[in-house]
Amino acid sequence: MDDLESVVSAIMKSRHLVAFTGAGISAESGIPTYRGKDGLWNKYDPNLYANINYFNQEPSYYWNFFREVRYPLIKKVQPNQAHFALTEIEKEGNLKTVITQNIDGLHQEAGSSSVIELHGTTRVIYCLNCSQEYSLDEVFYILEKEIPPACPECKGRLRPAVVFFGEPLDPQILNSAFKEAETCDFLLAVGSSLVVHPAADIPRIAKQGGATLAIINKEGTPLDYMADYVINEKAGKVLPRMVQSLKENSSG
Ligand code: NAD
Repeated sequence: MDDLESVVSAIMKSRHLVAFTGAGISAESGIPTYRGKDGLWNKYDPNLYANINYFNQEPSYYWNFFREVRYPLIKKVQPNQAHFALTEIEKEGNLKTVITQNIDGLHQEAGSSSVIELHGTTRVIYCLNCSQEYSLDEVFYILEKEIPPACPECKGRLRPAVVFFGEPLDPQILNSAFKEAETCDFLLAVGSSLVVHPAADIPRIAKQGGATLAIINKEGTPLDYMADYVINEKAGKVLPRMVQSLKENSSG
């Protein structure tokens, strides 16, 4: 990992560091990525489980998936060393914001204080009629009795606060992410295949704005050619070493 020391010294010079994360950062917490050999979509067809049209048409598909797969997984998982490393970099003073494509809430669990969730969160469910919000546990309890679940307040339809395929991203959230990308002077992309748009525009925007771009991902991405640093290793291995080196350099 020769590049690691160079990344660390560039981070130490930066004033506004932004992290941009994807499913790969949560892989070591036991959450499968969507793509690739062990990807979730090899087992579950995203057209049935993650598409807004299908959800509107046949919501019980999603809710069965929620009950059998998503709920037990989210209840079990914990942030890993990579999530905690980003919290440490924030404490060191460099990291201002985490922009994530993940919907698992693990950055907040690890203590990151400023997180932009581009694709929403799986931890909140709300009523399409009265907007009342419910926790995972509350909805899991309702699902014991009825699928699809109805809002206990008004009997309206419930949905998760995630962005389904076929839905646009929230323009305000997207704008705040784009603004961070424009403003930062260092973008650290971690655990993303960088193929999903518009989320994958973030590194490009940062680079166009003059930021240094470092990509940490287990395998190559289509944006590697524009990155200043590429480290093809697991996030849980690289990020803690980065923190250690940052601490050593800042105390030395
Ligand atoms: P992706 O599945 O397209 O790519 C993940 C990337 O992470 C891959 O390139 C893989 O090589 C890499 N990777 C796997 N394990 C890694 C590790 N330990 N360290 C570093 N890299 C590792 O994921 P993406 O780019 O985030 O794609 C976007 C979509 O996937 C988003 O819509 C997001 O909402 C969704 N997603 C979220 C979660 C989650 O919330 N945890 C999980 C799966 C998918």
